[in-house]
Amino acid sequence: MQKILPKSKLNDFLKKLMQKHQVIAPVKEENTKFKILNNQNLKKLYLKKITQVPVKKFFIPDNEILLEYKNDKLIEKKDSTLPRIIFGLRKCDINALLVLDKIMQDPLYISKRKNTIIIGLYCENPDEYCFCKSMELSEKGYDLFFYPDRKNYYISIGSKKGEKLVSNLAVAKKQVIKQIKNTKKLPDKNIENHYRDKIWESDAEKCLSCSACTVYCPTCNCFDIKDNLDVNLKNGERFRKETSCQLKSFTRVAGGKSYRDSRLSRFKHFVYHKIDYFKKQHEVYMCVGCGRCLRVCPTNIDWINTINLLKGIKK
Ligand code: SF4
Ligand code: SF4
Repeated sequence: MQKILPKSKLNDFLKKLMQKHQVIAPVKEENTKFKILNNQNLKKLYLKKITQVPVKKFFIPDNEILLEYKNDKLIEKKDSTLPRIIFGLRKCDINALLVLDKIMQDPLYISKRKNTIIIGLYCENPDEYCFCKSMELSEKGYDLFFYPDRKNYYISIGSKKGEKLVSNLAVAKKQVIKQIKNTKKLPDKNIENHYRDKIWESDAEKCLSCSACTVYCPTCNCFDIKDNLDVNLKNGERFRKETSCQLKSFTRVAGGKSYRDSRLSRFKHFVYHKIDYFKKQHEVYMCVGCGRCLRVCPTNIDWINTINLLKGIKK
């Protein structure tokens, strides 16, 4: 059973949700990103394409304080997230959260996930960078999922929480479930035996180690733990700071040695983590095919194309 909502009533629907929840949705400002909605930025709602900036900061915010110490006493930080709804997540975005769930096991992250209702939105306009169709994505992970069709949204229900939100909407007379349209292809992801292939060198030569790919990747989650201490050393706070495997400092240890000293080793680590290592550990790819790393790369590195060019790999 699906529920139906006329497209012209979407803003009213969101406004109603805003009465009881914090509602986060894609908006278009200097770039496209998820923001907490209010009556002003609701006018900037952006549903045409995937957002440039992923949603991850709402689950693993940069500089998040983990604990405080006051007069030598430790105070663990509790999550203060309000009950919230994120609207407009694409299938790749939802799958990125399922990937993060496998990695982020701390109470702050878990609490944020529990406090968040997920409303997905079918992707009508994948662009030339999207390759989600090749990434064996899960159909799960949403409370509600919206399929646009002509003048209406057809809404699939994924949970009791979701069902409650649409209890006032009419039951649809037909079912509309759409499969993602053709996206860029990555048919063979078996790159295990190609680590030493020369082909990676041309990508690595173009790489600036700017870390934009990891900043914009919805599944990249690496952080450092840092302390801010008062001079008396009695009071302070501990926080996590976003970092990136593309930076030399990422693997730097005492004495100054970096274990991934070369740009080539750092670049290959990114690709192999996304397509090979994580899959062996968790049975899903760490890459969800959103294409953000390709879109944002200042030197237009297309590692999907590189994998497709590997010799001996099935096409
Ligand atoms: S965005 Fe491109 S240039 Fe920057 S670190 Fe990633 S691959 Fe290298
Ligand atoms: S590696 Fe690139 S395409 Fe894959 S999830 Fe991350 S940003 Fe998206």
